[in-house]
Amino acid sequence: MEIHPAHRVRQGLTVRRWSPANELDEKHRLADCIIRPRQAQHAQLAWIEFTGRVADTGYSLQTVDIYRTERRMHRIASGEFHWTYTLGDLRITALRDGYVDMPVGRLRQNGDKPFGDDLPPQVALIGGQLRLSVNAFAIDDGNEITLIDTGASNAWHPTMGRLPEALDEAGIDVEKVHTVCFTHTHLDHIHGLVLADGRDAFPRLARLLVPRQELGLFRAVARLKRFHGMARPFEAGDSIGTHVDIIGAHGHEVGHSCFRVSSGGERILIWGDTVHVPSLQFDRPEVTWEFDGDQDQARESRLRLLALAADDLCFVAGAHLDSPGIGRVVRSGGAFRFEPL
Ligand SMILES: [Zn+2]
Repeated sequence: MEIHPAHRVRQGLTVRRWSPANELDEKHRLADCIIRPRQAQHAQLAWIEFTGRVADTGYSLQTVDIYRTERRMHRIASGEFHWTYTLGDLRITALRDGYVDMPVGRLRQNGDKPFGDDLPPQVALIGGQLRLSVNAFAIDDGNEITLIDTGASNAWHPTMGRLPEALDEAGIDVEKVHTVCFTHTHLDHIHGLVLADGRDAFPRLARLLVPRQELGLFRAVARLKRFHGMARPFEAGDSIGTHVDIIGAHGHEVGHSCFRVSSGGERILIWGDTVHVPSLQFDRPEVTWEFDGDQDQARESRLRLLALAADDLCFVAGAHLDSPGIGRVVRSGGAFRFEPL
């Protein structure tokens, strides 16, 4: 596995101890080095291997340096329904709306084939079913709070709808939630805008951001009618404030999107439904989900985001990863492994 040197240098790795260092410009410095990341449990080690002479110069390369870059995201509070972490200057809180049990047949092998007796033993079942956590995530920049997804409220099974308790437990003032964004418009992500008793969950909501391709889907949801006019579209490449940019992750739904949050050199991908069954889909990312609108596209998006998380040292936060749903992705064999935080 190789990462383009410029890519790594941009992230703060610098090449040192050249001979004679001061006489090489940036282009030459990057010309012939290969950086190979070696992942350890809590850090990334980068071996910078100098592979001969620097292009267009007579200089030889002198040494091999090893850099260690810590990935920092510390848990600072937790409870039954919430887990709060630092990410640079931000606080990221995982909020547990609840869970939903799904039949094993939702998992699909290549060719849209459900599993039967061939279900890998690593897949954890509860009462013969897959239990999916349902999580939302809050980003607190010290002034205001942005919420990514909102859970199901009372619009689906009664095993969900705990978001208000989670927010309360986390000490998050709902009056400070000014922005709500949806990774996509499935019911376990959007209905938390409205409390079970019909009141607004976020009285000072000023911005409601919905994937452009799903505005129509959102505006077809009768229970959320009073928010239809407020919804504004976003798309891949957009930025939301100074810390968040959007990465397209279409497939599970037509506008399914990932929110990359950056602060202090750290990054987290709040990636919605990129993985539904963590006990299987890191190890076998080709496995899809019956409710993926476009299974091939969902598979491609999952592989792309897993690679991005592993190689670009991003933490991940998933709507259906087991609570708290936050951790690291590392490459493992030809696939990936999730290390929860
Ligand atoms: Zn979902």
